[in-house]
Amino acid sequence: MPINLLDYDLPGLTSYFAELGEKPFRAKQVLRWIHHFGISDFEQMSDLAKSLRDKLTQIATVTPPQMMAEQASSDGTRKWLLDAGSMNGVETVFIPDDTRGTLCVSSQVGCALECTFCSTGRQGFNRNLSVAEIIGQLWWANRALGRDPKGDRIITNVVMMGMGEPLANYANVVTALNLMLDDNAYGLSRRRVTVSTSGLVPAMDRLREDCPVALAVSLHAPNDTLRDEIVPINRKYPLDELMAACQRYLEKAPRDFVTFEYVMLDGINDQPEHARQLLALVRDVPCKFNLIPFNPFPNSGYRCSRPETIRRFRDTLMQAGHVVTVRKTRGEDIDAACGQLAGQVQDKTKRTLRHIEVI
Ligand code: SAH
Ligand code: SF4
Repeated sequence: MPINLLDYDLPGLTSYFAELGEKPFRAKQVLRWIHHFGISDFEQMSDLAKSLRDKLTQIATVTPPQMMAEQASSDGTRKWLLDAGSMNGVETVFIPDDTRGTLCVSSQVGCALECTFCSTGRQGFNRNLSVAEIIGQLWWANRALGRDPKGDRIITNVVMMGMGEPLANYANVVTALNLMLDDNAYGLSRRRVTVSTSGLVPAMDRLREDCPVALAVSLHAPNDTLRDEIVPINRKYPLDELMAACQRYLEKAPRDFVTFEYVMLDGINDQPEHARQLLALVRDVPCKFNLIPFNPFPNSGYRCSRPETIRRFRDTLMQAGHVVTVRKTRGEDIDAACGQLAGQVQDKTKRTLRHIEVI
């Protein structure tokens, strides 16, 4: 099998090239061709010696995941479905606004963490995405979107908020993050790359040391009883441990706050007492809140909170001095909204079956 160079960040490619007897600067050149210029054909890498181009053509490839489908929303949002093999598909979404172009990247096929309001979680877990499949989403999207008239890239921010729990695919996600940050590849600043996690505490501590990018934490509930139910990983890493991990993370984070995501579920977590509990919970953690109107999917069993309930909830947090945004739903006409990224997942955990057996 030829080696897929999309699987390597700079340290990885440098040591691979060392095995081939090539100098470190060659790895930088190749990385630039692949990621900066979006080139996959070694013959086009014109500043490499002919002998190296020939060698690479024989033993290596640059193979991104196959693109299966593309959709564009009337609001400028775009969605790509990439082939993850064995009848699986993963989704990537591009969301433009006035000042930014944000790419929402997936990290796994399905997700094992079973958050009850999440359509990815409902599908069960199939497998981790490889580095090539994660960074391949950015590679494809950059090629598809091109550059603006000034020659700048259209994608200015990346959020790991697509399918899957990024910190449950730790090594591959960190290698992909390294590429996002590397000037020879995508050159994004740490502040413009965000990992969203449902709260895998040990992996948050590792990320702080290995690759501290901006952090979003999917909170969704202000007390352990409710969070145990709707974000089951809370039973393993309860809220006091999660808050402490957020504080530790901030010692190294590129931003001086954590973003707490909070999905607004009608009658479940949106009452005035929940807002008050939330304020007490985050007392010692510098943070911003991002309230996400629940995006429905078939048989979810949940409804989105009413607009006035969301407003009241937001006002309570704001009056206590917090910055609060309410996420606009984008790409609704192409099912590209948060938590709707379903792709296609062949459930290896046979969760659906398990549930049927229980019933
Ligand atoms: N696994 C990671 C990142 C992917 S989900 C995490 O949980 O943080 C990105 C965000 O979308 C998370 O905050 C997640 O809780 C939220 N989300 C999931 N399903 C949703 C839905 N149906 N409506 C709105 N937000 C949802
Ligand atoms: Fe997994 Fe995140 Fe969905 Fe929870 S919300 S099931 S962690 S993808």
